[in-house]
Amino acid sequence: MMSGTQQRQGGEPLLVAEQVRKVYRTGEIEVEALAGLDLTVHRGELVAVMGPSGSGKTTLLNCLSGLDDIDGGRVLVDGQDLFAMSDARRTSHRARSMGFVFQAFNLIPVFSAAENVELPLLLGGTPAKEARRRSIQMLERVGLSHRVGHRPNELSGGEQQRVTVARALASRPAIVWADEPTGNLDTQMAEQVIALLHELNREEGQTIVLVTHDPAVGSSAGRLIRMRDGRLVADQRQSSDGQQWGPVGRHETVRVEG
Ligand code: ADP
Ligand code: MG
Repeated sequence: MMSGTQQRQGGEPLLVAEQVRKVYRTGEIEVEALAGLDLTVHRGELVAVMGPSGSGKTTLLNCLSGLDDIDGGRVLVDGQDLFAMSDARRTSHRARSMGFVFQAFNLIPVFSAAENVELPLLLGGTPAKEARRRSIQMLERVGLSHRVGHRPNELSGGEQQRVTVARALASRPAIVWADEPTGNLDTQMAEQVIALLHELNREEGQTIVLVTHDPAVGSSAGRLIRMRDGRLVADQRQSSDGQQWGPVGRHETVRVEG
């Protein structure tokens, strides 16, 4: 178990993005959605990403996770260059090391909660019995042990989003990407989902990158980055006592005490 200081500051670099560029071309029009962006995410960090609509937050998540291609730069995950891999290797690397929570829940309507959570495990080759065991375990972890047999339309929005959190975590990914996960939820449900992400970060050291519009959510994360026009315009980390914010250096190495 990590100390509070370690969680705030993060451990060794898990993801390193260097000069990442992404250009969308629609007919004659080019949009530079990522304009040579550098970012290092350390193991155990909860990073909130804020910025106006169109500033490149979703593109950042899609490119740094390898869901989408990049037009320049590189992304290292655990020291491995994502875009130097074949598509097939990148896909299996992503299935093993990354989990996703989107604004739309993307649950399969005819499947129960347990079936939705175990599906990616089955696709990844986990034996059925083990997949079911882990699915139930994850649903318990997100407070849904009484809903394992329910289908999405028999669950509230907050419960559905907790199923997607369980699904994202079932493969025990190194990093979880969450793109405005509370965008479709009312305030109370949103608070529950955010509290759950905090808990997973605090208690299990789960590394999470979370896009949010909510300033309260942003300032409760250990680290807050702000984007504008495809660039990072601010990158700040909270002190371990939560009293102060300080800038995060571009190519810093974080020292972990103890
Ligand atoms: P955010 O998530 O911060 O709202 P996005 O990453 O979705 O921003 O978009 C960044 C910019 O890239 C915007 O100007 C957007 O219009 C453009 N963009 C995003 N996706 C596409 C796409 N598939 N095709 C063309 N332009 C896109
Ligand atoms: Mg977006």
